[in-house]
Amino acid sequence: METQRAYMMTNNSADYHPWQVTNLRTASTSGEISLKQIRKRFLYNVTALMSLSRTKTMKIASFSKLALALFVSLIVAVPVHAWDYEGHRVVNQLGLAALPKDFPAFVKTPEARERIAFLAGEPDRWRNQGDGRNPTDDVVLSHFAGPDHYFDMEDLDPLKLKPTDLPIFRFEFAGELAKLRAAHPERFDPIDPTKDADRTKALPGFAPWAITELTGKLRSSFSYLKAFQDYGGTPEEIANAQANIIYIMGVLGHYVGDCAQPLHLTRHHHGWVGPNPHGYTTNSSIHSRIDGGFFRRTGGVKADPLIEKIRPAKIINDPLKSDDLFRKVMAYLQESHQFVEPLYRLDKEGKLTPENPDSHEGRDFLEAQLVRGGQMLGDLWYSAWQQAGEDTFLIRVLKARQAAPK
Ligand SMILES: [Zn+2]
Repeated sequence: METQRAYMMTNNSADYHPWQVTNLRTASTSGEISLKQIRKRFLYNVTALMSLSRTKTMKIASFSKLALALFVSLIVAVPVHAWDYEGHRVVNQLGLAALPKDFPAFVKTPEARERIAFLAGEPDRWRNQGDGRNPTDDVVLSHFAGPDHYFDMEDLDPLKLKPTDLPIFRFEFAGELAKLRAAHPERFDPIDPTKDADRTKALPGFAPWAITELTGKLRSSFSYLKAFQDYGGTPEEIANAQANIIYIMGVLGHYVGDCAQPLHLTRHHHGWVGPNPHGYTTNSSIHSRIDGGFFRRTGGVKADPLIEKIRPAKIINDPLKSDDLFRKVMAYLQESHQFVEPLYRLDKEGKLTPENPDSHEGRDFLEAQLVRGGQMLGDLWYSAWQQAGEDTFLIRVLKARQAAPK
C-alpha cells in the first residue's frame, strides 16, 4: 500500500508543471521492456493489488477487473525503441567500415571494434531504468536521456517551426517550446500528468542535438589526445584519451542509428495516428517489427554483407560555420522522415511481413536504412577527427609540466 501511494504521489497533478508544448508523443518513451522487467513490474503490481484486495471493501470481482486492467496495461505499454541491439551493432560496424586506412589504428583493433559495437546499445540500456510508471524508476535519467532517441518532425507543425530554422542550441529550443506553449495553449492537446512522470511527453525529442553535441565531444577528445601525444602525455593519459574516443564513438553511433529508423522521426511511431486516408496500419506492433522482429524472423541481420554498399567516409560539415554540423544532421533526419510513408506503404503491401514471398523488398528497405545510418556515422566520426583543432589550453599545461624541474 505504501509503495502504491508513493507512486500515486509522484504523479500528483498538483506537482505538475505543464510548460510542455504538446501531448504529441503518446507512447511510452522508455526503452524496450525486457521480459525480466515485465515480470518485475507485473509482480510489483500484483503485490500492490493483493495488498489492496486484502481490505474488506475489495471484492474478488473488482480484483479480477483490476488484474485484467493491469494485464491490458502491460500489453499496450508500447516501448519507443529503434533498432534492437543487433541492428544498432550493424550501424556501428558499418560506420567502422567507412573509415579510411589512416584513421587512428587504436580504433581498429578487434577489441576496440567489439567495444564500439557493444556501445551501440548503451543508451538503450539507460532506458531500461524505466520512465516513471513504477516508483523505483529513474525519472531523472529518463527525462534527461529519453528524448535524445527521437525527433518527431510533425510535432513542429503546431509550433509553426521548420526543421531548417531550429536553434542549434538545445536549451534555446527547449525555451522556445515553453514560450509557445504558454502563448498558444489552444494549439496543443492537454497532457495527462499521470502518464508523464518523467515530463517528456510534450517534447518532440532532442536527437539532432544529441548527435551534434556528441560529435563535438568526439572532436574535443581527438584534440586532447593529440595534445597528450605531442607534448609528453603519460602512457596512462594517452590510453585514457583513446578509451574516451572509443566510448564516445560507440554511444554517438546509437543516436545516429536511431535516426536511420524512420519511425523515430515521426509521430506515427507506433502505428498511424490521426487522419489515415491511405489506411495504413494503426497497430503499434509495427515498431517492434521494424526494430528487429522482421530481421529476427528472416535470418537475422549482419554487417558483413552490407559493407560493400558503404563508401569511404567524407567530411560532412564546414567547420568554419558553427551551425553547419547541426544543419547537416537535421538534413539527415529529414531524409529519414521521407521514408516514413514508404515504410507504411511497404507494410500495407505485406512486404514487411516475414512470411510473405515479397518480404525481400522489406529487407532491402530496412538494410538500406542501416547502411544510411552507418554511412552517416562514418562521416561524423571522420569529420570530428579531421576537424579536431589544437587543445591550446592543455598544450600550455603540458608544456609547463615538461619545463618544470623534475
Ligand atoms: Zn535509441
